[in-house]
Amino acid sequence: MRFFPRAAILDDTGKPCEIVSIWQLRWDERQSDPAFAAAVHRLSRALVANYSGMKVAAPIMLWVLGGMFTSITLLAGYSLLLSWLVWAPPALALYWIMRRGDLQRIVRQTIDVLLVNGICPGCAYNLAGLPEEDGLIGCSECGAAWMRSRIARFHSFGQRAERSETRPLRLWWERVKAFEPYGPTSIYDDRSFVRPVVSPRLAWPIRAAENEHHDRLVEAREEMISHGSIRRLLTVCVIPFFAYPIIVVNLRTDNPLNIALGLLLLPMMVYSGIFTLRGAVGIKAQHIKDAMLRYRLCPSCASDLMTDDQPEVQGFCTCPECGAAWRLREEPGSQSPALDETRSVP
Ligand SMILES: [Zn+2]
Ligand SMILES: [Zn+2]
Repeated sequence: MRFFPRAAILDDTGKPCEIVSIWQLRWDERQSDPAFAAAVHRLSRALVANYSGMKVAAPIMLWVLGGMFTSITLLAGYSLLLSWLVWAPPALALYWIMRRGDLQRIVRQTIDVLLVNGICPGCAYNLAGLPEEDGLIGCSECGAAWMRSRIARFHSFGQRAERSETRPLRLWWERVKAFEPYGPTSIYDDRSFVRPVVSPRLAWPIRAAENEHHDRLVEAREEMISHGSIRRLLTVCVIPFFAYPIIVVNLRTDNPLNIALGLLLLPMMVYSGIFTLRGAVGIKAQHIKDAMLRYRLCPSCASDLMTDDQPEVQGFCTCPECGAAWRLREEPGSQSPALDETRSVP
């Protein structure tokens, strides 16, 4: 048994291959193309959905409590910092052990999401325009072969990509603006499979979508963020309640370190307030599911469920992009105010 397992990564012919990491994709120069950014965002939502509170909380608890315990027993007299240093490796090991089961899933999700968008999961090369042979497309960059049927659409990424010195800064700012803390990360589809869930502000999907799909995404967002606004406001009011006394105490000392800390906490308080207002506090997974399905949008990947070739089997509508199964909220053709509204959009 290997302590640090490596997931088996195979292409569609069963041949071992490499896989791109989310970090590589985030700093790819095609990020300035909304379609590419939306694909990467969807992958990061899928990866985030693998985390459960316990997998993160247990190692942190072990680290904090273990450090505190040894600092008053075995390592008494030494700094608490030393004790925490000693406990860092076991805490990291516990984190790895708890997450090892996720590795295979992470590989599968990366392959699924990238292939749907015509990106080679092995090297992030654009598969558009490559020849198809026996239903397989061989990547000309890394040699991995993928099934053509797994690709939903090809993009010509990079047409809108810009090359400039300020690009990394712009990308970072875009990411800051799209940051949505505290929202739900996973959801059950109507066949009770756990799926990742879209973030309620739909920042990347809205940027990438076109025409009528775009309008429905905007309307679904309005409906989703109408939930929980009072809770967000109350949360913002609580932040200065805790932060203000700490800031005042630090600023009133003569120690330059404390004053610096106090001055640092001030913008942090403002930022956390802004992020809370822009975040997803009080928006439940059920709110997202209801609103998205009412507008015929996939709650898991934001793709359009109103396409003509929509396979609807036994009352379930299967998302052509992510395979999630949904029961649509209203029958098509019935008097649904939400849909009539969007259908009238030219
Ligand atoms: Zn490749
Ligand atoms: Zn979907």
